[in-house]
Amino acid sequence: MRIIAIANQKGGCGKTTTAVNLAVAFARKGYRVLIVDIDPQGHTTLGLGCNPEELDISIYEALTNSQIPISKVVRRTYISGVSLVPSNILLSGADIELATLFRRECVLKQQLADLGNIYDVCFIDCSPSLGILTLNALVACGEVLIPVQTHYYALEGLRQLLETINIVKERFNRKLQILGVLLTFVEGRTHLSRDVQRQLREFFGELVFSTVIHRNIRLAEAPSAGESVITYDEGSRGAIEYMQLAEEVSNGKTKNRTPQESLIDL
Ligand code: ADP
Ligand code: MG
Repeated sequence: MRIIAIANQKGGCGKTTTAVNLAVAFARKGYRVLIVDIDPQGHTTLGLGCNPEELDISIYEALTNSQIPISKVVRRTYISGVSLVPSNILLSGADIELATLFRRECVLKQQLADLGNIYDVCFIDCSPSLGILTLNALVACGEVLIPVQTHYYALEGLRQLLETINIVKERFNRKLQILGVLLTFVEGRTHLSRDVQRQLREFFGELVFSTVIHRNIRLAEAPSAGESVITYDEGSRGAIEYMQLAEEVSNGKTKNRTPQESLIDL
C-alpha cells in the first residue's frame, strides 16, 4: 500500500481539500483508497459526509488503545472505493495519552501495517501542528505531499516542516520522501501570485507539481455539502485540477530529492 501524508503545520493551506479530492480522484481511477483523518478538527471526516460528533469509534481509539485494530474503525463512505478512518475532537487528548507510551511515534505505522493489502493507496490528512499526531503520520508514510498556499508569506514555516521531515527520515523512517509541493490558492491573473509561484518554483525546483490548484469557489462550497468537489461539481476547475493532480501523483515517481537539499537557503 502506498501511503501519502498530506502535511503542513500551517492551517488553511489546502491539506484537507487535497486529501479528500485526491482520495476521490484515485477511487475514480479504480484504486482502492483509504483516507485517514488524523486531525482532531475532523474536517476530512465531515467533508466525506460523516458527522464527527456522531462517531461511536474513531482514530482516537485506534491510537490510544492497543486492543482496537484500525480495521474496526474503518468505515465506508458514500463514494465507492473510498474508505475512511474518521476523527473527531476526542483526538485532541491523544498527545497526552501517547506521551508515556513506548514507541509512541510508531502507533499509526503499526496499525496501518496490520491492514495488509486491502487498499492500494492511503492518504493521511494531518493536523495543523508538528506534534505527535503529525509525527505518527510522517513515520507511517512513504511519501509526504506539502500543500503551500501561494501568497506572500508562502515560505514562512516551511523550514520547520522540512526540518521535521529530515529528523523523521534520520531517526524513524529512512525511506521517507517528499512526493511534491503543491501550489494552492493560485490566482493566475495577479502579478503577485505569479511572482510567488516563480519564487516557489525557483526554490523547490523539480519538487513542485506541474499541476497547481487555483482559487476556486466550488472547492470552498463542496465541504459544506459534505462532498468532494469531484462529486459536487465535476466540471469545475477545482475538480479538473484535482483529477489532473491524481494523474501526476499516480504516474510520476517520487521526486528523488531528499528533504536536506530542500533546506538550502530557506
Ligand atoms: P487545511 O486542511 O490545510 O486547514 P483546507 O483544505 O481545509 O485547509 O482549506 C481551508 C479552507 O479553504 C476550506 O474552507 C476550503 O474549503 C477552502 N479551500 C481550499 N482550497 C481552496 C481553493 N483552491 N480555492 C478556494 N477555497 C479553497
Ligand atoms: Mg484540514
